[in-house]
Amino acid sequence: MSAPPYVGRFAPSPTGPLHAGSLVAALASWVDARAHDGQWLIRIEDVDTPRCVPGADQLILQQLAACGLLPDAPPVYQSQRGALYQQALDQLIAAGQAYPCGCTRSDIARANASMGWAKPRHGDLVYPGTCRPDRGGLKGKPVRAWRLQVPDAPHDVITWHDRRLGEQTQHLAREVGDFVIKRADGLWAYQLAVVVDDAAQGITHIVRGEDLADNTPRQMLLQRLLGLPTPIYQHTPLVLGDNAEKLSKQNGAKALDVQAPLIALRQAGRLLGIQSDADTVAAWLAQSHITKKCSR
Ligand code: GLU
Repeated sequence: MSAPPYVGRFAPSPTGPLHAGSLVAALASWVDARAHDGQWLIRIEDVDTPRCVPGADQLILQQLAACGLLPDAPPVYQSQRGALYQQALDQLIAAGQAYPCGCTRSDIARANASMGWAKPRHGDLVYPGTCRPDRGGLKGKPVRAWRLQVPDAPHDVITWHDRRLGEQTQHLAREVGDFVIKRADGLWAYQLAVVVDDAAQGITHIVRGEDLADNTPRQMLLQRLLGLPTPIYQHTPLVLGDNAEKLSKQNGAKALDVQAPLIALRQAGRLLGIQSDADTVAAWLAQSHITKKCSR
């Protein structure tokens, strides 16, 4: 019997070069794909244009190549895929599941304060549904963003099994609220783009950093509403920076040294429990997925 298909991916945002933290996510997804005899794809997530750094995509691809992490197909770029995102938005609007919102950040903060919802969650305020069509819609305000109408009955809890973190649950309406799928600056929101692309690329397994785990229920809801399959998820450990937060450029992440790829791979491998004493990149990678295959 042939193994079920496996298509994995690494989806970096080209906001700077790869660093020790992003290599962990890249390596984890590559090793998992190889251990399943699957395909491994790269998607450059360049929708958030103000955060993108010109040339960072090429730099990332070169860094991955220096580490022997080569995709099985040419990388796709989200900036080329606006028509697909628009189609998805149109589908949600037609089904009455997306609506225009005219609220500014301070409108949302004021509404939160008036309801005594003091605490922003991961820096984001819960959207209180002010512009929902059944609450009178925009009430004359100009359209800013487009939001997804999140089912809000008490039983509307999203539950999923993460291969590393185990059972996870989130009540989206209470914890996030109707979230943005097209931003006020006209750019596509990460949540919508990632769901459309994962489905279009036939991704069956998502292996990515644990900082993204919290987004999974939003993506699962979008998949359900758009009639798309839900991949299997695994969120990998994070490399922490000097301030004990996820390693990033802001807290001292250095660009990965492509002159010493084996050192970088060994360091990333340690966090993932990959044992390999090989002394070339090719041999190290070959051993790494065999170890994982045995422990799968
Ligand atoms: N582009 C996202 C990032 O660089 C990753 C998205 C994902 O893997 O779903 O953090």
